[in-house]
Amino acid sequence: MAKYKPVRSGFTSYSLYKLPQIVPFLIVLVVAATADDSDFRSSNSWRSHPSKKLTKPVVLLISSDGFRFGYQFKTETPNIDLLIARGTEAQTGLIPVFPTMTFPNHYSIATGLYPAYHGIIMNKFTDPITGEFFNRNLDPKWWLGEPLWETAVNQGLKAATVFWPGSDVLKGSWTCPKGFCKTPYNVSVPLEERVDTILSYFDLPKSEIPDFMTLYFDEPDLQGHQYGPDDPRITQAVAKVDKMMGRVIKGLKKRNVFGDVHVILLGDHGMVTNCDKKVIYIDDLADWIKVPADWIQAYFPVLAMNPRWGKDVKNPGEKNAELVAKMNEALSSGKVENGEFLQVYLKEKLPKRLHYSESSRIPPIIGMVGEGLMVKQNRTNAQECFGNHGYDNMFFSMRSIFIGHGPRFRRGKKVPSFENVQIYNVVAEILGLRPAPNNGSSLFTRSILLPFGETWEVE
Ligand SMILES: [Zn+2]
Repeated sequence: MAKYKPVRSGFTSYSLYKLPQIVPFLIVLVVAATADDSDFRSSNSWRSHPSKKLTKPVVLLISSDGFRFGYQFKTETPNIDLLIARGTEAQTGLIPVFPTMTFPNHYSIATGLYPAYHGIIMNKFTDPITGEFFNRNLDPKWWLGEPLWETAVNQGLKAATVFWPGSDVLKGSWTCPKGFCKTPYNVSVPLEERVDTILSYFDLPKSEIPDFMTLYFDEPDLQGHQYGPDDPRITQAVAKVDKMMGRVIKGLKKRNVFGDVHVILLGDHGMVTNCDKKVIYIDDLADWIKVPADWIQAYFPVLAMNPRWGKDVKNPGEKNAELVAKMNEALSSGKVENGEFLQVYLKEKLPKRLHYSESSRIPPIIGMVGEGLMVKQNRTNAQECFGNHGYDNMFFSMRSIFIGHGPRFRRGKKVPSFENVQIYNVVAEILGLRPAPNNGSSLFTRSILLPFGETWEVE
């Protein structure tokens, strides 16, 4: 989550401002479910097991923060392997959205929206228009779109969250109910306790078992930031996550529901090494253009700039374009150390595949930083080695995992990699929910899920 120091208390900053939502909400694709939802759910398409406890679809969505695709090969992971063998896996990983940061990605998974549309454009950012600072605030005005827990509750289902960025924001009919919504986020809650909270929901009377649940592990992200992706402590953290998955599986089996629960294990992004000698210094551009530090909101993995031209400048857009041109001239001159690994854009000129322009919260100038490179103002900063993410989602190192296990997922199936904005529709389809407008494709669910009525006997 955090860049240098993992945030120990997290989610602690609250905004006191009250301003209208300003991000234009573009609906790219509306997925229409024509059937009445209640009919949808109660139809005999769901194979009920009279001898088993669950007679309804249940989804347990688990995130392992910073679980880079390939970590599962670092060590023995028997429990993750079991889910892969008996479930459906994104063969070469789950593609995060840009920027490949924790908050934007968890909220894209929950809403099916790209960050420009759900409003959480970075973990921390300053709104260029209002000047307000977002730092994991819980004020609902920041959190646009409709997350799965809200969709579920809106349509009469029950949801429970054992942490997830955004899950403790009160939105619509989602009240973050006591006992079913862990808040505030607290990194010191042991992973075992988180798993056991989820398992305890399966001890409730049938009708009170939540239909949709989230579970969040902050590993291996914490170790990844401190030591980079190739370190024995990452291997240990991966083993720990696998052990937690073993606890989930064992607990569900004990309650005779493992085969009936849709367990989705995924991560929000990957991780790459940052190290000394891989730095671009802004002050090295001074012969071409002077860029003051207070124009820069974030240096890397995304360079975010909001130049302050002053009142005398009539056309700041023109000045921004000149600045971008000068910076790129310097960077491509061959005279700036590592300059070839930074490309600066007016946000509306960013590659379309990034979906990163349609929000007034996104600052006017964005620099795309090469994989593993850092950007700093000058050489006075101490150099070090650690790990980070947030880079272009095209980089393989930013990919995470996706495994789906349960009645609607085919056994031993591999699917091509896909973007995490598809997951909202997948969960909605399993639960028989009418999805809110989102950036996913309604056709995608057909490629990954068995149709109703053809559910797979997992056990
Ligand atoms: Zn992180």
